[in-house]
Amino acid sequence: MQYRSQLSSLVVLLLGVVVIGQGAGAPRRTQNVILITFDGLRWQEVFYGADEALMNKENGGVEDAGALKKAFWRDTPEARRAALLPFFWGVIAQQGQVFGNVNKGSAVKVTNGKNFSYPGYNEILAGFPDDRIDSNAKRPNPNVTVLEWLNQRSPYRHRVAAFCSWDVFPFIINRERSGVFVNAAHEPVQDGKLTERQELLNRLMSEITPPWEGVRWDALTFYSALEYLKKHKPRVLYIAFDETDDYAHAGRYDRYLESAHRTDAFIKTLWETLQAMPEYRGTTSLVLTTDHGRGGAPTEWKGHGANVKGAENIWIAVLGPDTPALGERTNVATVTQSQVAATVAALLGEDYCAAVPQAGKPIAGIWR
Ligand SMILES: [Zn+2]
Repeated sequence: MQYRSQLSSLVVLLLGVVVIGQGAGAPRRTQNVILITFDGLRWQEVFYGADEALMNKENGGVEDAGALKKAFWRDTPEARRAALLPFFWGVIAQQGQVFGNVNKGSAVKVTNGKNFSYPGYNEILAGFPDDRIDSNAKRPNPNVTVLEWLNQRSPYRHRVAAFCSWDVFPFIINRERSGVFVNAAHEPVQDGKLTERQELLNRLMSEITPPWEGVRWDALTFYSALEYLKKHKPRVLYIAFDETDDYAHAGRYDRYLESAHRTDAFIKTLWETLQAMPEYRGTTSLVLTTDHGRGGAPTEWKGHGANVKGAENIWIAVLGPDTPALGERTNVATVTQSQVAATVAALLGEDYCAAVPQAGKPIAGIWR
């Protein structure tokens, strides 16, 4: 009896080793994650590039249709999307994965039913929809985001930062409670002894006329984030761009496309910077997404919301050392916005769902 129970313990132990060994797979290389959002960039432009129906004055408010077509119109959808987002299609989709092409059986859905910003950013960052969040009002988020959750854990403590163009983010991330470093909109970066570049960027933030109420230009957000990254080498960085959404609301399809194109170039610069730094090279994953979709041509594209058809359709892209290069995913299970938080954590080897059971599961197939 004694012998048999020892034997069965040994069998259980060995089985455990085998199961754990299989579960772990190849050793995870990601040490850092950078999450990036383009506010309200449609999946239609991501997968098909510029929409001909909107490249005119009537539907798209376009000032110079000839110049816009020269920049972004091409004969095939593949060429159009590559012209609009060259880094996204040339590198991210070649070396990583892209979800969200509804026409190829790869939908990504917002599940909060509201299809506007704060509910979307809460769903992305906390990992679940919350009916209490029903406006863009500056109310501190009652939910703990994955940024706050990671910031509570020792490897990431004080190594989580967010740079955001929109002034609601200090509330979405609940800066006061979370302790996450958050810089947003017109606030100067407060970061001890500033570098020369930080001083200049801070001056520009206060001296350039803001494009919209409560929003700063995305270039100021990007270069402030990049300087912070070089200075502090955060393990987790969130960059929230805004311009695509505000130009769409303004009915300016030309500016919307130009902004998406410029943001793509920012991400290229970021990726090249990361690969030139020993702290990040080969150990950093990127996750890209958006807070909501928008309506279709010819007029609904300007808006989004609960009653705008199709505004629940979004997209997600992942690039990094653990992500198999499967490119544009087709015929996969529907992915939801609520899966982003656990995916960010899982890339770092952390189990967010164990702590937050209502959060969406990490996206299947994005690591080896
Ligand atoms: Zn938005």
